[in-house]
Amino acid sequence: MTPRPPVIEFRSVGLTYGGPSPVMALSECDLTISQGEFITVVGPSGSGKSTFLNVAGLLDRPTHGTYYLDGMNTTTLKEADRTALRGQRIGFVFQSFHLMPHRTAEENVALGMMYSAVPRTHRAQRARDALTRVGLGHRMGAPSSHLSGGERQRVAVARAVASVPSLLLCDEPTGNLDSTSANAVLTLLDELHADGMTIVVITHDQAVAERGQRTVSIHDGALREGVAA
Ligand code: ADP
Repeated sequence: MTPRPPVIEFRSVGLTYGGPSPVMALSECDLTISQGEFITVVGPSGSGKSTFLNVAGLLDRPTHGTYYLDGMNTTTLKEADRTALRGQRIGFVFQSFHLMPHRTAEENVALGMMYSAVPRTHRAQRARDALTRVGLGHRMGAPSSHLSGGERQRVAVARAVASVPSLLLCDEPTGNLDSTSANAVLTLLDELHADGMTIVVITHDQAVAERGQRTVSIHDGALREGVAA
């Protein structure tokens, strides 16, 4: 089998927050995540998980090292190019959903494609297809404030994948859900993975961590393969 190309490649990536007492939130991280992998990232509070997500998601620029996304060196890109790349290649799912409460599920998903490469005229259909994909075809017209937590997170997943990104980055995606809804969201991630999506899930929940094919731990800003003892 030919090896899959890397989606994420960190070479000695680090991020130190400046200020009077600088904090090295990520240090010398080397990591390769290949196309189609489902990785979970674990670590205690304050270990650097959010910093990792922000760097991998092109929300923050590392202060050291080089980050290649889909083979492109993102470290030297101008801010506008990083924003465009983020819109085209990365889908985000957050613990607290980040939906617009008065907009319908369909509008939320369609608006999520604003910075993607999907032409405006195709967005409504794409949104409907993505919502059908996550099992919410019957709730497309409901304002997101009328949906349950589990349904909201499925809308958020639909929004994240509607533009077919290279990478789905999830930050504690089940952190606000009861166990049944959490399971539905995790099953959905399994299905997306089976369809070839590259997925990174950040979690402090061991049960969620075990859903990945591979787990990476962070301790004091240092990444390590596997779950630390
Ligand atoms: P986690 O997500 O695992 O809880 P973070 O990535 O949020 O960890 O934080 C890693 C370290 O960086 C912590 O020591 C935290 O206090 C520090 N940190 C996070 N954000 C900032 C910031 N904007 N400025 C300074 N230090 C920060």
